[in-house]
Amino acid sequence: MHAPVHPTGVSSGHHCIFCDLIRGAAEVSMCYEDGTVIAFMDIQPVNAGHVLVVPREHYEVLKDIPRDVGMHMYEVATRLIPVIQQVSGAEDMNIVVNSGAAAGQNVFHYHIHLIPRRAGDGFDVPLPFPGSEMPNRHLLDAMAARIGAALRNHKGGVPARS
Ligand code: AMP
Ligand code: ZN
Repeated sequence: MHAPVHPTGVSSGHHCIFCDLIRGAAEVSMCYEDGTVIAFMDIQPVNAGHVLVVPREHYEVLKDIPRDVGMHMYEVATRLIPVIQQVSGAEDMNIVVNSGAAAGQNVFHYHIHLIPRRAGDGFDVPLPFPGSEMPNRHLLDAMAARIGAALRNHKGGVPARS
């Protein structure tokens, strides 16, 4: 679904806190903005300097994001990362996207987490996943071939906007 629902902040009947703060109806500590994207401090940071990069328009999950908006979000993230490292004094970072409920998304307005990390901070993205086993190479090869073939036939997801 390609569904910006700005400026009401309501998608599928649900209220959106990020739309509220983008239109100035809720408190926000902003560190970057342009015409497409804003970045602000996570209200419950893993560590000081935890930033969310967010499109101004309301898109719920990764598949809804037009390619140009997604590319721009990553460009902004790439510019912010060394600055956050410098300001927070934390050189290590997790760049996290939770897209969809099963992936742990809580706010259904797509966003990228930039999370400065410190040794012993207690946060974890446990990969490799301790609950999984290593499949044999045939299974990995078969999945790689399926993805490669599907990619050649794929239209490329949500197109860039003109
Ligand atoms: P996610 O689970 O990926 O959807 O992450 C949602 C993030 O949004 C969490 O890290 C929250 O702490 C953060 N968050 C929720 N409400 C606000 C808010 N009003 N201002 C800033 N960050 C928020
Ligand atoms: Zn929203």
